[in-house]
Amino acid sequence: MSQNKKGGISVETAHIFPVIKKWLYSDKDIFLREIVSNATDAVTKLRRLSSLGQYDDNGEAYSVRVTLDKEAKTITVSDNGIGMTEEELEKYICSIALSGALDFIQKYDENNQNNGIIGHFGLGFYSSFMVSDNVELITRSYLSEEATRWVCNGAGEYEISPAQRDTHGTDVIMHISDEEAAYLDKYKLRNILDKYCAFMSVDIFFDCEDEADAEDDKEVKPINDTAPIWLKNASDCSDEEYKDFYKKVFNDFKDPLFHIHINADYPLNFKGVLYFPSRLNDYESYEGQVKLFYNQVFVADDIKEIIPDFLLMLRGVLDCPELPLNVSRSYLQDNAYVKKVAAHIVKKVADKINSLCINDRETYEKIWSELKIFFEYACLRDRKFYDRVNSSYLLEMVDGSFMTLEDYLKECEEKHQNTVYYATDKAMQAQYISMFESEGIKVALLSHQLDTQFVTMCESVNSNVKYKRIDSEITDILKSDGDAQGDESLFELFKTVSGNAELKVSYECLKDEGVPAILTVSEESRRMEDMMRMYSNMGMNIGGDFPVEYTLVLNSKSLLINRLSAIKPVDEGKATLMASEIYKLALISQRQLSAEELKDFLNNSFKLLEML
Ligand code: ADP
Repeated sequence: MSQNKKGGISVETAHIFPVIKKWLYSDKDIFLREIVSNATDAVTKLRRLSSLGQYDDNGEAYSVRVTLDKEAKTITVSDNGIGMTEEELEKYICSIALSGALDFIQKYDENNQNNGIIGHFGLGFYSSFMVSDNVELITRSYLSEEATRWVCNGAGEYEISPAQRDTHGTDVIMHISDEEAAYLDKYKLRNILDKYCAFMSVDIFFDCEDEADAEDDKEVKPINDTAPIWLKNASDCSDEEYKDFYKKVFNDFKDPLFHIHINADYPLNFKGVLYFPSRLNDYESYEGQVKLFYNQVFVADDIKEIIPDFLLMLRGVLDCPELPLNVSRSYLQDNAYVKKVAAHIVKKVADKINSLCINDRETYEKIWSELKIFFEYACLRDRKFYDRVNSSYLLEMVDGSFMTLEDYLKECEEKHQNTVYYATDKAMQAQYISMFESEGIKVALLSHQLDTQFVTMCESVNSNVKYKRIDSEITDILKSDGDAQGDESLFELFKTVSGNAELKVSYECLKDEGVPAILTVSEESRRMEDMMRMYSNMGMNIGGDFPVEYTLVLNSKSLLINRLSAIKPVDEGKATLMASEIYKLALISQRQLSAEELKDFLNNSFKLLEML
């Protein structure tokens, strides 16, 4: 064994220690991930040698042990991995690790903190100095009987000396500085381990030397799951396993709507499980969370660069060992590999939706009301996604049943070719719905704000199919063969009682004699108004006035209208009262009355009752 050696950092690396200590003030927690993942790497290397027959491990149990010693103010990470000889230690720790850290710091400097390197990945061994006054390393190579001790202070001065270690492996003893004493807390450490090390590939045990749980808690179970679900074959995992994993990792008590297991081969080479979270109501956030792993090591959970923004409501895990992580986020956005990963994810999501629609319609219909908003949003954001999934869009009918557009169009082929009739409010539009239903026409329900935007887009993609709200026009189906003519002098009367000089009034011969008049609202102007309202809700003022166009359609077949026409020349007052009532009734079956309108309507009604 060589004699004690002293060393120090070279001039060009002199600034690294103060930088590591002071400048990387955020995300200090990652020091534990870096040191523990080095330990698991060391074990993995020895395991591999053993599997190649180059080392006989006699079936020994490999593990990593994290020990907190509050009194000594140390955190120690020990492994029984490959270990290092003195030469290796000098090469790897004093040279390679140092230049790696320096490289990282430089990149970090260029990228500054805000859009910096994801998860501070790649700082490596020297990240231990973020929290330590000095770091001690005792290591023994699997090929050697002798151990080496290396100790380095926060100024970068180190000393190497012979040491004792019973078996091969490495102990990294971090002497925690007073400023970072908060790390000498078992709950804090446990949280960090749970966040970063929960799925690492070697059993990790946590010793916190706490008298209270010394007896029962001491190292019975590892804190991690070394074979997480995303590494398994989908065919080997049950639905329950997927759900349990989801609930545990995302702390959600609700089952997800469904999951997608991705196992992308070379050259993408990434694995993952994505979930569609279930939301009980509109008020729950749509913010998803995809946790990014790098060979089972947690990196970050805010990786918007990899998941297309319209899929950000997904939750799940992605393990991407090919991802360049020690580059800036903006670089990542333009990275060809990242784009391919994102495209692959989009394709898998679309495939899953289509396969549910075709192969498991029952489940699909059950989750549709929750899935729909996402579906529409994603289609509006990404035309390719729309092209992929549009055949799986379900129309919910007012009676609660579901139909694909294709089925709907097939069914309406004879009566109203290529037109989808819809309601936006079942209660408010009940009269129109019953008129349509009595003619055997199915009415879809599109009650969400996004629905109208979605169908507007569908029309722009396929101009053959039109979507019309049931009160947007008097379709031929509702008309009877009779004469659509009537007393046109009533037009002025209705304009007057409606208080709207612009109101269009016309005659149609409706099949339903009982209906004296109905209001229609032009589809185009109504959608325009919807859009304006949405923009103004979002705080945008587009300007311009887009009045909704209403038409009052008088039923030439109606007894009431004919009576009104007869009364008008004889008793103007009675005619006005009647016209006003007929108009209000038409209004009521179309929308809610305003306070003023309601007051008026009630007064009219009382007067009419008095006349009986
Ligand atoms: P990286 O892990 O990215 O290579 P580090 O700076 O963390 O960078 O470590 C540098 C090198 O030091 C490692 O590649 C490894 O060879 C060696 N090393 C670090 N920790 C251990 C350990 N616990 N056991 C054996 N070798 C280690």
